[in-house]
Amino acid sequence: MSSHKYVYDFVEGNREMKGLLGGKGANLAEMTNLGLPVPPGFTISTEACKAYLGSGRVPESLAAEIDEHLRALEGRMDRRLGQSDNPLLVSVRSGAAFSMPGMMETVLNVGLNDQSVRGLAAQSGNERFAFDSYRRLIQMFGKTVLGIAGEHFEDALEAAKKVRASENDLDLDADDLRKLVETFKQVVIDQAGRDFPQDPREQLDLAVRAVFDSWNTERAVIYRRQERIPADLGTAVNICSMVFGNLGPDSGTGVAFTRDPASGAQGVYGDYLQNAQGEDVVAGIRNTVPLLELETIDAASYEQLMGIMATLETHYRDLCDIEFTIERGKLWMLQTRVGKRTAAAAFRIATQLVDQGLIELDEAVQRVSGAQLAQLMFPRFDDTVTGGAAGKQRVAKGMAASPGAAVGKVVFDSYTAVKWQRSGEQVILVRRETNPDDLNGMIAAAGILTSRGGKTSHAAVVARGMGKTCVCGAESIDVDTKGRVMRLPGGRVVEEGEVISIDGTTGEVFLGEVPVVPSPVVQYFEGELSVEQIEQDELVAAVDRLMRHADGRRRMSVRANADTPEDARRARRMGAEGIGLCRTEHMFLGDRRPLIEKLILADTDEQQQAELAALLPLQRDDFEHLLEAMDGLPVTIRLLDPPLHEFLPDITDLSVRVAVAEARGEPREGDLRMLQAVHKLHEQNPMLGLRGVRLGVVIPGLFEMQSRAILEAAAARIRKGGVPRVEIMVPLVANVQEYETVKQHIIQVAREVRAETGVHLEFLVGTMIELPRAALTADQIAETAEFFSFGTNDLTQTTWGFSRDDVEAAFFAAYLEKGIFGVSPFESIDREGVGELIRIAVQKGRAARPGLKLGICGEHGGDPESVQFFEQVGLDYVSCSPFRVPVARLEAGRSAG
Ligand code: PEP
Ligand code: MG
Repeated sequence: MSSHKYVYDFVEGNREMKGLLGGKGANLAEMTNLGLPVPPGFTISTEACKAYLGSGRVPESLAAEIDEHLRALEGRMDRRLGQSDNPLLVSVRSGAAFSMPGMMETVLNVGLNDQSVRGLAAQSGNERFAFDSYRRLIQMFGKTVLGIAGEHFEDALEAAKKVRASENDLDLDADDLRKLVETFKQVVIDQAGRDFPQDPREQLDLAVRAVFDSWNTERAVIYRRQERIPADLGTAVNICSMVFGNLGPDSGTGVAFTRDPASGAQGVYGDYLQNAQGEDVVAGIRNTVPLLELETIDAASYEQLMGIMATLETHYRDLCDIEFTIERGKLWMLQTRVGKRTAAAAFRIATQLVDQGLIELDEAVQRVSGAQLAQLMFPRFDDTVTGGAAGKQRVAKGMAASPGAAVGKVVFDSYTAVKWQRSGEQVILVRRETNPDDLNGMIAAAGILTSRGGKTSHAAVVARGMGKTCVCGAESIDVDTKGRVMRLPGGRVVEEGEVISIDGTTGEVFLGEVPVVPSPVVQYFEGELSVEQIEQDELVAAVDRLMRHADGRRRMSVRANADTPEDARRARRMGAEGIGLCRTEHMFLGDRRPLIEKLILADTDEQQQAELAALLPLQRDDFEHLLEAMDGLPVTIRLLDPPLHEFLPDITDLSVRVAVAEARGEPREGDLRMLQAVHKLHEQNPMLGLRGVRLGVVIPGLFEMQSRAILEAAAARIRKGGVPRVEIMVPLVANVQEYETVKQHIIQVAREVRAETGVHLEFLVGTMIELPRAALTADQIAETAEFFSFGTNDLTQTTWGFSRDDVEAAFFAAYLEKGIFGVSPFESIDREGVGELIRIAVQKGRAARPGLKLGICGEHGGDPESVQFFEQVGLDYVSCSPFRVPVARLEAGRSAG
């Protein structure tokens, strides 16, 4: 006798046992123990599934355990499985700890065969019902257990309806259904090469095994990888006695939510279908009625259901969704779970529950996420605009691949997208699917629409990476790129140049221009709303309340990556507590480019010094304004990082210019010299070349000029009564000597500036950690660096060996599709690789210099999942783009403590 227990009666479980009983099983058990009307049944645990998948055999003791529970169930129901005059029927349903759309779901009516179908007819007094139930069993069993394509059954059903000249399966009578059962049995023989099993216990065992096997279907495996669900959890199987919603007009089935999952508002939300079984609701065979109408159809059941919904909400302290069935006036609960909801509803519901005294604010901030807040910050289509010619004309729906609202003229290729965009048009790039050749068009477009491909298609992945609105896989649209038209479902043809609107948050496609409004949540963060306006908008008030609480809990501070005073001011409004990264390279572009060119072309030290001297006052001015905008808060200014050739003309353009001028016999001396310089600075792998600290070592005057500009700006601010808090940051350090060389120059400059201005300056000098070698030798670097800021963009690039500018568009779609990773490591921190280097650097750095200030300024600083990781490793702050500051604040607050 095995010591293992694999089977649990519903009364033996509870909602905490999801790992063992799956989500469905655990919640059925919870409802049973709450005294709610759940049809009796039992759950085969995930342990049994794991044992089966591990050995390829059903565990030996399982059959006996199932026997025992089945006997108990039969006793309680006073019927036996397959009993010919009074049969017990059961449903077999899969249920993992996480809901998994890739898996087998349900087989209903297990226990019916050629004999017991007559028993069911007698028992129910309804022959039609009995044969309808039998044909449903053969159909579901055939599809999910025997793997027969559903269309074989659906075609046969259609043919039967055609004979009756009817669209409605309710018009098929007992005789029609009896014939259909025979046809279905033949389909099984033809397609599966075996008879439909008449032995009810064999039906049950095969169904259980099929559920186990469904854990490893390709779809399920891919889904798990994408959702980062561990591969070894296994699924549970729920065996539940059948109740019937298709016994006549006093029966039915429905789904309901305890609140509106779209808005969070309390009320009665759901759908009901009279005289139907569960799958009819999902299949959309007949039209459901709003749940409210159940009150007229069956007042007693309605009232009982309302009571149960209130019980569930109070018990789960959250929005629940439920499935129920009414069998001849008796209500049965078939499923409940904490329901999915939109981002807006999540914020509203969390604060409503606080107001109702069901949860504390601490828990409320755990009920929302930074990703949801980010969704609320996209502009959206004006809700007040309704349908019709002048309003929203929805013409298709695809997948909501990348949120936001975009309006523009339809274009069908990248070239046109770029051309029209340059002439000031907003365009929507419409393709069947996109590939890397479409990249320029995607960048130029306001939004992207494809008719094929899922959420990990090239279009979806790249659009999300760019933060660009995208609807993908709108399959009802026929995109004809050659004919430069798209055909809509009704036959309407949309020509290139016509305006459409796409909603990346819902996946909807509209004809014409739908007005776009800014997100009220952004208006709130921008400080554009009055106290009254905040209070009046339930969503904004909820965001305000949860943000305040998150800020109160937060250990890490949040800074912004900002290069200009405008960005700095915006970041401050959004709640930034300093600048974590000011990239100084933008100060070398635009009308300053000629100065940089001269600097690079300088032949002598004197010339170089003169060019640097010309740049100094401009840089000082930049820094003074930046420090003013962030007065009183820390400002990390990074010395020049990119390779110098980025500031010179493109090598191909220049070569052509020189060649053409020479052919005309009018060679231009300046261009020629420039071309030589460009050639000299040209690098095969500029990202791994002369950039960052290496520039400071090779051209010391450059970093000295920048340091002088920063420190003189700080002195000027102090003289004006300001409080500048300067942190000078050296990029791309790999070894401590590089850093030390540059730092000596900075200290020397500081001495000079102090002497010249007479102002006592306090400032920090530190480094970025963005190369694996820097992370591994962090103890040496920390001996002399006063702070570290992790440059996780370069650290990801150099740890994986992925060129950050190329790989995402080139092949990440394939990597994501194959599940090599669930999300780009440039978007969310790779905890195992890059994260491990960060851990090492934190530990070594702090060991060498206790209290070493640690931050992160790569893109990951605004990614909710990554922020959680940075909290765990104990960083002092995260820094991200101004727009993502609120997201980082919320996530830092959620992850603290
Ligand atoms: C980084 O590498 O993470 C970083 C912030 O620097 P940049 O993106 O400018 O290289
Ligand atoms: Mg970098």
